[in-house]
Amino acid sequence: MSEANASLGRLVTELQVHGVVDPAVAGNPGRRGGAGPSDHRALTIDGTTVMVPVYTTASQASPYLLQQEGDAVAVAERSGGAVVAVEPPPEPAFYGLRTADGIPYRAIALLHGRDVLATTLLQTCIRFRDRAESCQFCAIEQSLDDGRTLVRKTPAQVAEVAEAAVRLDGVTQLVMTTGTPNSDDRGARLMAETAAAVKARVNLPIQAQCEPPEDPIWYRRMKEAGVDSLGMHLEVVEPQVRRRILPGKSELTLDRYDEAFAEAVAVFGRGQVSTYLLAGLGDRAESLIACSERLIALGVYPFVVPFVPIAGTPLEHHPAPSSSFMVEVYTAVAAQLRASDLSAQAMAAGCAKCGACSALSLFEQEL
Ligand code: SF4
Repeated sequence: MSEANASLGRLVTELQVHGVVDPAVAGNPGRRGGAGPSDHRALTIDGTTVMVPVYTTASQASPYLLQQEGDAVAVAERSGGAVVAVEPPPEPAFYGLRTADGIPYRAIALLHGRDVLATTLLQTCIRFRDRAESCQFCAIEQSLDDGRTLVRKTPAQVAEVAEAAVRLDGVTQLVMTTGTPNSDDRGARLMAETAAAVKARVNLPIQAQCEPPEDPIWYRRMKEAGVDSLGMHLEVVEPQVRRRILPGKSELTLDRYDEAFAEAVAVFGRGQVSTYLLAGLGDRAESLIACSERLIALGVYPFVVPFVPIAGTPLEHHPAPSSSFMVEVYTAVAAQLRASDLSAQAMAAGCAKCGACSALSLFEQEL
């Protein structure tokens, strides 16, 4: 890894585990609640756009602060130490549009990072109603409560927004996730229907994210409908950590995930299937590193991200991992990736390709 990438990787790690205090600096304000990593905003540092927590409880006590003087924005240490210039990406033009029936485009999909369009097709989840069963870090239904998003986005709505986001804002990929519906396809049908509608309007690489469908025919159906990459997310890996953090989803065993990964890689290809590993929820570094090695052998990209405690979830006050823990895991997993045929860059679409929620791809880049 080059010295520049090494130090940028460490800086990004530091900002992502602590967050920054944001006294309402201009630009795209990011998002609160919802599926996956949240309560953060995009910042571009030295040409790399990353997501940094700003709305979490922990970020209010961060040693880092966003400062704005005129048009210049910087991250400074609150103690008065070093400053790095950052650029908050502006709000995208498509946020100003509405559908013919008056729905704001931003309630259908959001801009993530610099050029990724992201949407949660189904904002409810069979596991969410009962907090004893739901994934403890997740806030998927929270953004429904104040009307910021729709319960369900139709394929036509997503296709309309995707076309505008490509035309007006130059987005380069679409990431579609979903709460898990009460059906054997686990959301794969929605993914396939939406991918087909999007691809009929605009040529945009698409990643679908869902739980492993029961029938592997759905991998083929998603692929044929226009899904280029697939994410199926382990989140955590040690058995007792899985039971504590994913009380419902841990019913799907690691063996079942391995089987699903093999089936998906057979359809999408090596390196076009990925999984999230949320570091900092109790898994030891050696467990995450050993799991990544196994995943890479299967052809699955292990997208390691630091756990971000989201306001209003049971883990709101759970500490984020330390920088040194993240650097240890990133360094080992990046070395495994460099020795393999997988890379963030080689993915057609998806969180690993975007990379904004993690510093892994910075650690992955060679001289
Ligand atoms: S890594 Fe995934 S969740 Fe994070 S900003 Fe990129 S697309 Fe969004």
